[in-house]
Amino acid sequence: MGEFHIKRIVLPSGKTVEIVYYQASDGERPVSDLRDIEAGAELHVRRLELCGGCGGERVHPTEWNEVEEMRWQLELRCPDCEWRHTDTYDAHEVERFDDVLNDATDRLIEELDRVTRENMNEAVDRFRSALESDGIMPFDF
Ligand SMILES: [Zn+2]
Repeated sequence: MGEFHIKRIVLPSGKTVEIVYYQASDGERPVSDLRDIEAGAELHVRRLELCGGCGGERVHPTEWNEVEEMRWQLELRCPDCEWRHTDTYDAHEVERFDDVLNDATDRLIEELDRVTRENMNEAVDRFRSALESDGIMPFDF
């Protein structure tokens, strides 16, 4: 049995990324052998939401194509600095990125709900104070 390792890498931007990888115990297999990666001998998880330009965490895909079984080619874009990157990723990396994007979408929807409620409360308050300050009464009609 091998074991999982976590390696921290500091990007040129100063951002730190964590890479989780699986080290086979026999130590014979070359790290660059893709067949071994697919066989689960190595697990390399890249955090796709991290920008290679500014180190932000809001990178999103602009294109998403399955190039072969369990391998996706993603075109990525950072909305903060317009950094762009195209690369091919394994299923577990893409699935993890999908989770990150879904979480971010959930947070956005929650924020939108909150802002919408606030705006409605404000509108109701404005309407109420307009009624009060204008002194509109039923017997005025
Ligand atoms: Zn960026």
